[in-house]
Amino acid sequence: MSIYTNQEMAMLYDASKCTACKGCQVACKQWNVLYTDLGMNAFPFSGSYQNPVDLNGSNRLVMTFSEKKTDTLERPIEWAFGRRSCFHCSNAGCVSVCPTGALSYQDNGVVSVQEEKCIGCHYCEMACPFDVPKYYGPDQKIDKCTMCWDRLENGMLPACVKTCQPGALHFGPREEMIALGKKRVEFLKARGYDKAELYGENECGGLHILQVCKYGAEAQGLKKGVEPSALVSLSKLAQPAAGLAAAATVAGLAVSFVAALGYRRKNRTVEEAKVHWTEAQRKEGAKLVKERLKEDAEQDKADNAGK
Ligand code: SF4
Ligand code: SF4
Ligand code: SF4
Repeated sequence: MSIYTNQEMAMLYDASKCTACKGCQVACKQWNVLYTDLGMNAFPFSGSYQNPVDLNGSNRLVMTFSEKKTDTLERPIEWAFGRRSCFHCSNAGCVSVCPTGALSYQDNGVVSVQEEKCIGCHYCEMACPFDVPKYYGPDQKIDKCTMCWDRLENGMLPACVKTCQPGALHFGPREEMIALGKKRVEFLKARGYDKAELYGENECGGLHILQVCKYGAEAQGLKKGVEPSALVSLSKLAQPAAGLAAAATVAGLAVSFVAALGYRRKNRTVEEAKVHWTEAQRKEGAKLVKERLKEDAEQDKADNAGK
């Protein structure tokens, strides 16, 4: 228990202060021990600075880059930077449909993940109106932002917030974050950004990642008035049956509550990471390993000759 877990909290992302440096994206990967395929050039240039193009089993946070044309010659394009990760909804579709309780609410508003309970059913993917949950590994376990729960419960800020240099990320009691966001919107409007608005106060019962949208929510690709997917009501009808099946599965699982809440990925071996490689990457990897082994053998030979 810490000051960050004993009351309702929220993160505020201010797009008008963000320089899209992606420091937060890197900090998230680093703290949460999320592997990357970049060494093998896994993500060829997509035509956008947004990279990777979307969340995936090894990226819980992606900074989004939307270009907006203007009528001015001096500045023909304006960037609407955004942040894409789990919103930690108060009324979270993912929690409602999860048959094993792998996803659950915490008192401070965080929607946490218990990796050990996940059976890879992908229901949460269908129920999330923001298309957030992604999966990794052969068992297709869920991966999404945990608000760095392991840091919060030790009185530390989420890694992305801690690293943000221009102060575009704030973390504090939700009411305070809403007030700060509204103040910032007023400031922007007074400077001619007519469409500036605060996103997330009411969507899905209220989000715990709020956003100050300098050019409006839509310019950042955010839909207003979002509610949980229709699948959630259907799943409630089917819950007794799903519950029985899930109970049998859960009973067989050894659950570690400590590892559960904020979960940081266990270190992944190269062999495990290779599951996600394309054929071309495997070939390139094998070639590099072969070359490296040859170099090492030659070096050994030279060292021995010099003795
Ligand atoms: S670290 Fe801060 S400024 Fe950099 S991309 Fe993230 S939110 Fe924007
Ligand atoms: S954004 Fe999606 S994954 Fe995150 S809490 Fe809401 S419904 Fe669940
Ligand atoms: S709160 Fe933690 S897990 Fe979530 S996006 Fe930030 S760094 Fe990643």
